[in-house]
Amino acid sequence: SSAPPLLQVENLEAGYGPINVLHRLSLTVNAGEIVTIIGANGAGKTTTLHCLSGIVKTRAGSVTFDGHDLTRVAAHNIVKLGLAQSPEGRKIFPRLTVRENLEMGAFTRTDPDGVRADIQKAYTMFPILEKRQAQAGGLLSGGEQQMLAIARALMSRPKLLLLDEPSLGLAPQIVVQIFDIVKELNKQGVSVLLVEQNARMALKVAHRGYVLETGRITCTDRADVLLHDPRIREAYLGE
Ligand code: ATP
Repeated sequence: SSAPPLLQVENLEAGYGPINVLHRLSLTVNAGEIVTIIGANGAGKTTTLHCLSGIVKTRAGSVTFDGHDLTRVAAHNIVKLGLAQSPEGRKIFPRLTVRENLEMGAFTRTDPDGVRADIQKAYTMFPILEKRQAQAGGLLSGGEQQMLAIARALMSRPKLLLLDEPSLGLAPQIVVQIFDIVKELNKQGVSVLLVEQNARMALKVAHRGYVLETGRITCTDRADVLLHDPRIREAYLGE
């Protein structure tokens, strides 16, 4: 017998106004896993993450995280339960300093000493952020902003980290760095749900993957199996 999944999504439906975007979407993330959702532009990847973090309301189905039904929990309380999102486009607070951005990531916490200690931990993992700690977040490079977005999400001490397109707009060698960081975080015990258009990198770092096509999961398997599936290679890996 195995433990229940950390995250279990069943038959999720969500959308905007009259449009349903997600159709009976089901997926799981087990504790310790990196799971990726790959899919084309507009398939519904961001919408899925926004349902989990409580930004988009679910219309039907269930989202169970660590024993809690998230469809009944407000967004800030979802963060408190241990689920944090690093958003698409990073959404750094441009006029706040790097350090203040990290403090914002800890807004649900009430242990200032622990927060200070975790900022130091973030600086150990991302030395460039310590160097730039007094600079405005908006002055960082794209790669540095992505690191800040991940570090900020970690400030709530999540069990599950939602990463939306961390490679977007970054040079290839920076993308490699970011994915190395994701692997390292995972080794330290953080489970990850990764949404990516860069399917090749995502499938290389993930344990399992789901393919999302116009709001429906059409395929799921171990990441290495998907990576070698001719249909996936043709549709998502540019072959
Ligand atoms: P991308 O990588 O481009 O963000 P995605 O797979 O994350 O793609 P979503 O952003 O989830 O896709 O969008 C799914 C669908 O929902 C698209 O057709 C999009 O136009 C639509 N959509 C997204 N956000 C809104 C919104 N706020 N209002 C109306 N429609 C929206």
